[in-house]
Amino acid sequence: AKDLVEFHNLKTYFHTSAGTVKAVDDVTFSIREGETLCVVGESGCGKSVTAMSLMRLIDTPLVEGKILFEGKDVLQLSKREMSQIRGNDISIIFQEPMSSLNPVLTIGEQIVEPLMLHMLLDRKEAKKRAIELISLVGIPRPEKIFDSYPHELSGGMRQRIMIAIALSCNPKLLIADEPTTALDVTIQAQILDLMRDIKDKFKTSIMLITHDLGVVAEMADYVIVMYAGKVIEEAHVLDLYKNPKHPYTQGLLKAKPIINQEQERLYSIPGQVPNPIELGDNCHFHERCAFCMNICREKQPPLRKDVNGHKVACWLYEEEGKAQ
Ligand code: SF4
Ligand code: MG
Repeated sequence: AKDLVEFHNLKTYFHTSAGTVKAVDDVTFSIREGETLCVVGESGCGKSVTAMSLMRLIDTPLVEGKILFEGKDVLQLSKREMSQIRGNDISIIFQEPMSSLNPVLTIGEQIVEPLMLHMLLDRKEAKKRAIELISLVGIPRPEKIFDSYPHELSGGMRQRIMIAIALSCNPKLLIADEPTTALDVTIQAQILDLMRDIKDKFKTSIMLITHDLGVVAEMADYVIVMYAGKVIEEAHVLDLYKNPKHPYTQGLLKAKPIINQEQERLYSIPGQVPNPIELGDNCHFHERCAFCMNICREKQPPLRKDVNGHKVACWLYEEEGKAQ
């Protein structure tokens, strides 16, 4: 498949009084047409910031590199061109649909509005399409839901509505940032099924951001593992599960899910993600790695591809590391 989005050496830094936070630090990868790319890692490792950089929802002066969408560098587009891409080509859904829905407008209004604005439908056509979309995302009696308010719906229903809104522009790319994290397990499975159906039916590319490897196994074609602002492993989902190379990925796959108060599935690997202000030019995982060598503390490992296209950034797979 062709590349739909290409990130080339993306750097997204934040300048704070305490120092520079390298939230995304020299990241290169692609999202292909009709595929689901999962971006996985613990919170604070740069997954969401990568997506927000593509959507240009972060101040551009701090962003470096290139982000090509169908060959055009979105970082160079005018605000107007960018809002066109946001309304027509790329949609995003977040973890908590309640915060994205307007509590004082009916569900119907919130779907009709973007249809009129971006798809240039009149009110009557937009209403018809909105009801189709509500039904498409698996909600029975869509006419009734059309006139409901967000608080009258369950969390799972609200997420379906967010997906309906996201689909209203027939996007080429759907970005989903932890879309099921706030939902219980049964509803989560239903939403994931819905996203898979959408991908199959409309050939939509999906960038799915998650910390949940169960979700990755079910959804991904390709997987990017991020750690402390870097891509540390990239592989086809089957390769990744069969042959995880990076000690961090191995740890994620071995760690048992635990349920915390917010009902999130977390995976515990001993130690913590390093303070983003104090990152050195070395392997950012070295303090937590059971295989750490001298070179790991001194030099950053390159992200290197093997014959199968499986990429890893770890000195264990480099001649310099093997010599230690
Ligand atoms: Fe561990 Fe070294 Fe590989 Fe980093 S580069 S993951 S510290 S072995
Ligand atoms: Mg996030």
